[in-house]
Amino acid sequence: MLKWRVGDVTVTRVLELEATGGSRFILPQATPEVIRGIGWLCPHFADETGRLKMSVHALAIEAPGGRRIIVDTCIGNDKQREIPTWSNLQTGFLKDLEAAGFARESVDTVLCTHLHVDHVGWNTMLVDGKWVPTFPKARYLIGKAEFEYWKREEDGLEDRSKSPFHDSVAPVFEAGLVELVETNHQVCDEISLEPTLGHTPGHVSVRIRSKGEEALITGDFLHHPCQLARPDWASSADYDPDAGMATRRRVFTALSDTPVLMIGTHFAAPTAGRVVKDGDAWRLAV
Ligand SMILES: [Zn+2]
Repeated sequence: MLKWRVGDVTVTRVLELEATGGSRFILPQATPEVIRGIGWLCPHFADETGRLKMSVHALAIEAPGGRRIIVDTCIGNDKQREIPTWSNLQTGFLKDLEAAGFARESVDTVLCTHLHVDHVGWNTMLVDGKWVPTFPKARYLIGKAEFEYWKREEDGLEDRSKSPFHDSVAPVFEAGLVELVETNHQVCDEISLEPTLGHTPGHVSVRIRSKGEEALITGDFLHHPCQLARPDWASSADYDPDAGMATRRRVFTALSDTPVLMIGTHFAAPTAGRVVKDGDAWRLAV
């Protein structure tokens, strides 16, 4: 299990899925030929044939004051989804989370960087045919703009059987566990949200600052480290591709050649590194 220390804060990666290839639908411009030309991606983030490696994981945070926070809750078990490899999963994610020291009842905060299918799944779990909150003692922090956008989308759906909002967001809202927050919300002394718009209307990243050390959990303003080399590559799931591009350039410029640790929400192991200037773009130093 990968783990990082940022001052007094620790971040642990709890893996749900890791895959090589099959991600072209997310980044259509990332062809094997072009990826092979970005040498530093191999071996961690691409194989020698130029296929991308990607990961779906949660990041579990321990912060001073006994705070226990989960950032993004992956795909989840038993959910019926449009993407076949993400449908009806039966993984040992909750056991792994517990082995990492995060029993369900011990989590006080769930943070969703945005409300896509692979970030909200374990918000709920199936018990006796009903979706119930997986983390019954947690406050679920969800961006207000993000929630309102997906609520409107949901209201327009005829068939909700494969809707992540329906089975993974609405039940925690109805249980009274959701707190709708602004995109710059301060979670605790060490942890705050910041807007990284473009991928979705209310997308946020998570900033950690403690004892002079700093990290940024990306969410999906980039999906893969190849976008450091090609910040102009939008993901097929981006809501506003131009805004996403502007966000990547802004954040990479700010992180460039600083000691800030960038922890990727879909980066394969080692999952985190420093942003380094590379010609007129950037690379991830791991
Ligand atoms: Zn995602």
